[in-house]
Amino acid sequence: MKIVCLGGGPAGLYFSILAKKANPSWDITVIERNRPDSTFGWGVVFSDKTMGGFQEVDRETHAGITQAFRHWDDIDVYFKGQKITSSGHGFCGIARMKLLQVFQQRAAALGVKLVYQTEVTDPDTYSGDYDLVIAADGSSSITRKKYESVFKPNIQVRNNRFIWLGTKKKLDAFTFDFKQTEWGWFNLHAYRFDEDCDYEEAA
Ligand SMILES: Cc1cc2nc3c(=O)[nH]c(=O)nc-3n(C[C@H](O)[C@H](O)[C@H](O)COP(=O)(O)OP(=O)(O)OC[C@H]3O[C@@H](n4cnc5c(N)ncnc54)[C@H](O)[C@@H]3O)c2cc1C
Repeated sequence: MKIVCLGGGPAGLYFSILAKKANPSWDITVIERNRPDSTFGWGVVFSDKTMGGFQEVDRETHAGITQAFRHWDDIDVYFKGQKITSSGHGFCGIARMKLLQVFQQRAAALGVKLVYQTEVTDPDTYSGDYDLVIAADGSSSITRKKYESVFKPNIQVRNNRFIWLGTKKKLDAFTFDFKQTEWGWFNLHAYRFDEDCDYEEAA
């Protein structure tokens, strides 16, 4: 079986890891437009439950993530001048780049071919050479666009705007902060994802 994953984000890489692990004889290639060490974004967060799922299906990637993450238990909510702390929420944060590197290394070790700096312009280019073409090219997927009439995606664009920021300010908990301003409500959602950085998402 020859498989190609279009897109080397978390979905394409993790699919390739699990498919290759279950079927070592399969020939699997991941095609990614970026270099292995470039990505958008700061950190991502996983619940303890998600980490449990990682551990169950592939211990090696789970070990790679746990060596590089920040774990916390508290959620701090700031609302109308009050701080409310709620405990017992196990989560971890990890840099998106680090997560991709863990996946890239594991996929390569299993024998997945990783091809970087290659733009996919038409998914059909690959259908002749591969038995299965996996569309893992993210939210602006050209594959989904091309086969819109088949996949029938339901995409709704709403009014909220968001910005994704990083800061050296270190927070102790998963933090939600709400403020009403002359421009409307701002909602901050921030957490630590490595020793030095916090990631903040404001909407
Ligand atoms: C602000 C923000 C915060 C988030 N926080 C979290 C979080 O805390 N926890 C969490 O679990 N999820 C979080 N998510 C969601 C998470 O980022 C996505 O669910 C995840 O990235 C989806 O993975 P993916 O591989 O499907 O797509 P992507 O991560 O978008 O990867 C797609 C890959 O395909 C490549 N690609 C696309 N088109 C082409 C092309 N034509 N040719 C070649 N390569 C191509 C891209 O370069 C990219 O590497 C967040 C998302 C955003 C926007």
